[in-house]
Amino acid sequence: PPDVEELGRSTWTLLHSLTATYPTRASAEQQTEMRSFLGLFSKLYPCWVCAEDFRSWIADPSGKNQPRLSSRAEFGQWMCEAHNAVNRKLGKKEFDCNFWEERWRTGWKD
Ligand code: FAD
Repeated sequence: PPDVEELGRSTWTLLHSLTATYPTRASAEQQTEMRSFLGLFSKLYPCWVCAEDFRSWIADPSGKNQPRLSSRAEFGQWMCEAHNAVNRKLGKKEFDCNFWEERWRTGWKD
C-alpha cells in the first residue's frame, strides 16, 4: 500500500482544495454530491485504519461532526476540524481554523 504519510499529505491537499473551490453558497444538488463523495471517500481511502477512524469521527453520536455543506465557509471550517481531529489523534499540533482559507485558497499574506 502507499506510504501512509505521503498518502495523507497528498490527500489533505485534495480535500482542502475541494473546500477552497466549493461554491460560496451550495445548491441542494452540490451538497448531495459532496455528501456522496465524502461517504465513498471514507470507505475507499486506502489506509484502512485511517478510513475507519474517519468514518466513526463523522458518525459521532452527538451529530456534531456531520459534514456542514451549505457553503464554502462552512465546509472549509468543517474540513479543518476533521483534519484537527486526526492531528490530535497523532499528537500533532492543531491548526488554527481561522486561517484555513489563507492556507488553502487565497495564500498567506506575508
Ligand atoms: P498533514 O497532516 O498531512 O498536513 C498537511 C498540511 O496541511 C500541513 O503542513 C498544514 O499546512 C496543513 N494543515 C494541518 N492541519 C490542518 C487543518 N486542521 N486544517 C487545514 N490545514 C491543515 N495517519 C496516521 O498515521 N493514522 C491515521 O489514522 C490517519 N488518518 C488519516 C485520515 C485521513 C482522512 C487523512 C486524509 C489522513 C490520515 N492520516 C493518518 C495521515 C496524516 O493525517 C498526515 O497526513 C500524515 O501524518 C503526514 O502529516 P504531516 O505532518 O506531513 O501534515
